[in-house]
Amino acid sequence: MPWFKNLIKISSTILNQSSSYKSMTPLVSPSLTQFLQFTKDYSTNNNGITNHHVAGLEPTKNDQKPRVVVLGSGWAGCRLMKDIDTNIYDVVCVSPRNHMVFTPLLASTCVGTLEFRSVAEPIGRIQPAISREPSSFFFLANCSAIDFDNHTWCLGQFGTLNFTRYLLSPIPPAQVQCQTVTEGVETVEPWNFNISYDKLVIASGAEALSFGIKGVSEHATFLREVYHAQEIRRKLLLNLMLSDVPGVSEEEKRRLLHCVVVGGGPTGVEFSGELSDFIRKDVHQRYSHVKDYIRANEILSSFDDRLRTYATKQLTKSGVRLVRGLVQDVQPEKIILSDGTEVPYGLLVWSTGVGPSPFVNSLDIPKAKGRIGIDEWLRVPSVQDVYSIGDCSGFLESTGRQVLPALAQVAERQGKYLASLLNKVGKEGGGHANSAQNMNFGDPFVYKHLGSMATIGRYKALVDLRESKVSSFF
Ligand SMILES: Cc1cc2nc3c(=O)[nH]c(=O)nc-3n(C[C@H](O)[C@H](O)[C@H](O)COP(=O)(O)OP(=O)(O)OC[C@H]3O[C@@H](n4cnc5c(N)ncnc54)[C@H](O)[C@@H]3O)c2cc1C
Repeated sequence: MPWFKNLIKISSTILNQSSSYKSMTPLVSPSLTQFLQFTKDYSTNNNGITNHHVAGLEPTKNDQKPRVVVLGSGWAGCRLMKDIDTNIYDVVCVSPRNHMVFTPLLASTCVGTLEFRSVAEPIGRIQPAISREPSSFFFLANCSAIDFDNHTWCLGQFGTLNFTRYLLSPIPPAQVQCQTVTEGVETVEPWNFNISYDKLVIASGAEALSFGIKGVSEHATFLREVYHAQEIRRKLLLNLMLSDVPGVSEEEKRRLLHCVVVGGGPTGVEFSGELSDFIRKDVHQRYSHVKDYIRANEILSSFDDRLRTYATKQLTKSGVRLVRGLVQDVQPEKIILSDGTEVPYGLLVWSTGVGPSPFVNSLDIPKAKGRIGIDEWLRVPSVQDVYSIGDCSGFLESTGRQVLPALAQVAERQGKYLASLLNKVGKEGGGHANSAQNMNFGDPFVYKHLGSMATIGRYKALVDLRESKVSSFF
């Protein structure tokens, strides 16, 4: 998937903001500062990929602001960046996406209920220091590895031995290793660069599961990013148009207008609800020639039994057919179920939950159910100055706490808590690498689940408040 699909335009508000900044600081524009700082030297690693060693991203000195490096621009990372005190820290965010996605509303953009720009927020607007401050940055890249051991190698802090090592070594030791995202652009080669951190926050989320089923990534569309929603909208409209042209057989018309949603979690349910509203209203009005051909299929699983029965009834009323089955194979125009049934489709949306990403799997640190193991203060206990929040992390068994669900409300509250924790640590003089070891971190993170909600179309929704022993729907 070309990487530029993951970019959104920076709005005019941001441009205006930065021009007012320029007028306040006429001597050095941010881009010039960046250019002057980013003098590079090069070396080639074992894979033949050029490493760029970038000045301005090496270990901070004691008279400089400590640097917080945030991996990921999702719910958790962005919430943290929003509240981090940039008078104390410089912030560097590394992510293959230059914006945050408001995921609960993503399904609504697939059918035009909401516009795409309503659910995406540029990083620079969430944390303006990233566009303005000379030592705060956003890098469009993936973190490929982390050298946890060498991050304490902080210039000036540990005496002459490290200082001499710094002077003698042509290459600063790797801390966070990143690779630019250039997939789909033939003229640009990917390159590696390293960033030293004082505090590292791993908030790289989880990945859509496909259970190794053949053909899923080639033929199905996930629903996690804005470009996925754009792809779904494009296919849906294209299929409606194609089915209306003269000469299309009845069978092909049915296939083109058959939308199949695999996965019965909240995302699948919400998308089916949106789809059924779209079919009932827009298709009936604007594509009345083909209105009797369009169908949607869905499979439900999570939610409490009563809610599931209710959702089943409501979705069926709205024209969504629910099918139980296991997908065995995905082909360009049909899926094959484990009992051999063939289901032709024009649009296939895959939403069967999330699991750890290959990046998280590659990290050599203790895990909790495949997620990065954390303690009550969201620290990764086996290494210094590393924290993890959101879908990629889970409480270690030793804390006696349950691994929390992969939800925005968990990520959001963890990001908020960690920002205030890091601000406190920074104010008390523990911002630089290896300087907060004996500090009192204060109250641990406590999560209270407020319930879950999924809209199912026709202005109806499921609300599951099981933790407070009440479930209701409206
Ligand atoms: C369609 C949809 C609807 C949802 N609805 C709800 C809802 O209604 N309520 C709710 O509570 N939850 C909902 N969720 C779940 C919620 O979105 C997630 O729990 C939440 O986004 C997790 O936040 P996160 O920051 O951990 O991960 P994400 O938001 O997934 O962000 C991860 C970030 O890390 C980046 N990244 C990945 N790999 C790397 C790497 N190697 N290096 C650097 N960066 C990397 C990604 O590009 C991304 O920017 C929904 C999810 C989806 C997909």
